[in-house]
Amino acid sequence: MSAVPLPPALSPDAPPVRFSNRFAALGDVFYTALPAQGVPDPQWVVVSEACARDELGLPDGWSRRAEWQALQVVSGNASWPGMQPLASVYSGHQFGVWAGQLGDGRALWLGEIEGPHGPRELQLKGSGLTPYSRMGDGRAVLRSSIREFLCSEAMHALGIATTRALCVVASPMPVRRESIESAAVCTRTAPSFIRFGHFEHFTHTAQDPDALRRLADFVIEHHLPECRDAAQPYVALLDAVSRRTAELIASWQAVGFCHGVMNTDNMSILGLTIDYGPFGFLDGFDPGHVCNHSDHEGRYAFARQPNVAFWNLHALAQALMPLIGDSDLALEALEPYKTVFPRALTSRMRAKLGMATERDGDGELIDGLMRRMAQDRTDLTIAFRRLAQFRTVEGADNSEVRDLFLDREAFDAWALQYRARLIAEGSDDAARAIAMDRVNPKYVLRNHLAQEAIHRAQNGDYDETRRLLKVLQRPFDEQPEHAAYADFPPDWAQHIEVSCSS
Ligand code: AMP
Ligand code: MG
Repeated sequence: MSAVPLPPALSPDAPPVRFSNRFAALGDVFYTALPAQGVPDPQWVVVSEACARDELGLPDGWSRRAEWQALQVVSGNASWPGMQPLASVYSGHQFGVWAGQLGDGRALWLGEIEGPHGPRELQLKGSGLTPYSRMGDGRAVLRSSIREFLCSEAMHALGIATTRALCVVASPMPVRRESIESAAVCTRTAPSFIRFGHFEHFTHTAQDPDALRRLADFVIEHHLPECRDAAQPYVALLDAVSRRTAELIASWQAVGFCHGVMNTDNMSILGLTIDYGPFGFLDGFDPGHVCNHSDHEGRYAFARQPNVAFWNLHALAQALMPLIGDSDLALEALEPYKTVFPRALTSRMRAKLGMATERDGDGELIDGLMRRMAQDRTDLTIAFRRLAQFRTVEGADNSEVRDLFLDREAFDAWALQYRARLIAEGSDDAARAIAMDRVNPKYVLRNHLAQEAIHRAQNGDYDETRRLLKVLQRPFDEQPEHAAYADFPPDWAQHIEVSCSS
């Protein structure tokens, strides 16, 4: 019997990672290999040690070991042995319209690191022009890089499927947006950055069914192996993506996350939240909220996200047609979305209300609360957090939560039903409060919090960004020393405009 060869041991001064570059092995119709174009005079802005450890298995001190040159690597100025930088090509529908070829216009795939939970792709965002940059400059600004970094890590801590962010570095290099800003590079990681748009590309743009099949086989083989043994693996793939997407959107809706640019090129084939741009967490509950000020028609308004995701899944189904053949089969594979999404959302909402069992009428109870919140623009995060303190004893003082509503009588009417519902399942106030605090975050990345951190970072002070990361990494904990981060947004927050430009 021949022994399995062991990989060469890493010497203490060797870089801390091994690469297995499976995506690169797919072949060059999927990408263009090119080196990063680094940024001058990089400085560390923020590092997620949790991401470094849990996703990539990087050892303590990875960012500080001089011989590893980590700062230069994540700035695109140096590389670790085994990296194979490349920009991948994809296409997509933007705002419902076919946009043709897009691709990694400023993201660069560096390779796959063997992490504790399997291989993780590593990407730089903002590392210069690629063949897919179109009219762009291949750069990212500090503002958008901090937003992407903080939100990736915040979403992960909320238990929402997402790409992760390892770090942000800043550079004095000027970058022109609406005004002149400065450059930054965000390093992100995920099991895969493959998007719906990658599939659309090989069907509609490249019209290369062989590449399409290789891409689908690759995703099944490495990421969705449960599809491999299905009678129709490509139908199973679409079915799996439908279910994952349904779960993802339910998790967004439950926490009040608005993505802002749900184009098919921003939809992950693994059901991860990907490409954080003009996203926003709702403050006052407004189903019609549009967080991207370039989205004039409100296509990506908060309440439309579930339908948009379903539309996007149809675009994916269309792209898979050369493999699936029969459109009835493809449509059938999209069906689970219609049941998984509402079930997942109701189950999350039930947990948010501290209801441990399923009962008839739960849907109306949930809708009743959300309607009242929409009418009064009640702060979503604060309301659910305070609701944990709701007491069911006769004559209890529930004014903490009641006071959040303008129409107190309407709230009282709802509270009467809620109380009856809780009593019916024998709910214990104290136990329910603990359970509710585990699912209703106290801390979310409100726009004004990000804005403050960005403002300071633009003046060279990164402490606020780092502090905010720490707070958002424990969103369900009380953290009394950071209570101000859980407060109502200040008046000026209403006027923050988040544009697509990043
Ligand atoms: P997004 O709206 O950020 O998802 O980007 C849509 C497309 O535009 C993607 O193909 C991006 O790679 C590309 N893109 C966005 N910003 C830039 C930029 N500054 N330079 C080059 N390409 C960009
Ligand atoms: Mg994108």
